[in-house]
Amino acid sequence: MSRTTVATIHLGALRHNLARIKQLAAPAKVMAVVKADAYGHGLERVARALDGDADAFAVAALGDGLRLRAAGHRQRIVVLSGPDRASDIAEMQRLNLDAAIHHEEQLHWLKDASPSRGQLRVWLKVDSGMHRLGFAPEAVAFVHAQLAAMPGIDPEIGLLTHFAESEVFGGAETLAQIGRFTEATRGLRGPRSLSNSAAVLGWAEARGDWVRTGGLLYGLSVVDGKTGADFGFRPAMTLGTRLIAVNRIGEGERIGYNGTWTCPEDMSVGVAAVGYGDGYPRSAVAGTPVLVGDRQVPLIGRVSMDLITLDLRGAPEAKVGDPVTLWGPELPVEIIAERAGTISYDLTCGMTRRVLFVED
Ligand code: PLP
Repeated sequence: MSRTTVATIHLGALRHNLARIKQLAAPAKVMAVVKADAYGHGLERVARALDGDADAFAVAALGDGLRLRAAGHRQRIVVLSGPDRASDIAEMQRLNLDAAIHHEEQLHWLKDASPSRGQLRVWLKVDSGMHRLGFAPEAVAFVHAQLAAMPGIDPEIGLLTHFAESEVFGGAETLAQIGRFTEATRGLRGPRSLSNSAAVLGWAEARGDWVRTGGLLYGLSVVDGKTGADFGFRPAMTLGTRLIAVNRIGEGERIGYNGTWTCPEDMSVGVAAVGYGDGYPRSAVAGTPVLVGDRQVPLIGRVSMDLITLDLRGAPEAKVGDPVTLWGPELPVEIIAERAGTISYDLTCGMTRRVLFVED
């Protein structure tokens, strides 16, 4: 039996969002961040929609770069976590992928980069305070000099850092990160890249030469209390399904696993064909909004693997077969994420294989 849960990817929204990022970030170039299967929207699909408009793609791992090259994309591709092992160096040269260098071990592997395979482009990653990947600020000048002396490396070495909380506009931590990065890279040649999506919105002083935007491409915001639409972006995913049952349940009866929600009166309860087995968050609390047709109704009870239950008192005409929207342009995914105790990226990344993807 085919499932009715469908993720519709809005290609026009992706293009609109990239154009808006370019407008906001100019004159900086834009790396379209398409890691994690393009935040769950589909790597090849998104790359095809943006091809020619994005100045580069950024991915997490070499395998994603391979997929993009196999799909015929010719532009720059930056592997944000760099090579994972010595043998990746030759493979990255063969595929013409930019490497992000963040660890001493990688410097040893890079000595194998042969100029005969074409010079490898690298980005030197600076740990300006997030303490995830990158060289300490005091090591940066030395590493830069080492890289510049390697014959297999393109002499134009990029300088890159990542912010821990750029969505806190005006926050002291991002200000300190910008300061440490500026200081660590002072006098070094090469393009700078600091900003992720939130920084493009709120930190003009961190624009640099390249921005690296993921969330905004998909119309997603991680700024507290704000949706992508609040900043002029369009959601690129609608998650929808259908009502598969409408039941009358009596006052005092409890709904779903562990009976966490009790009917305050005799009422109509809808059952929609979506659950955590599709990627709808199990942690979504009662009251999380869901659209039945164009009526907004609250989720009630626990989210199950395949099903959710809905209070249909606000949609008395609802019937089996009616369309149900879990998120999309009419119901921001940021709101659902907030009710589930997570961020919008987590939800779009979480679609499972049984969800049918279509494009419009
Ligand atoms: N740059 C790096 C190194 C990242 O890890 C990420 C994503 O986590 C991004 C850029 C894009 O961030 P955002 O999706 O918030 O724009």
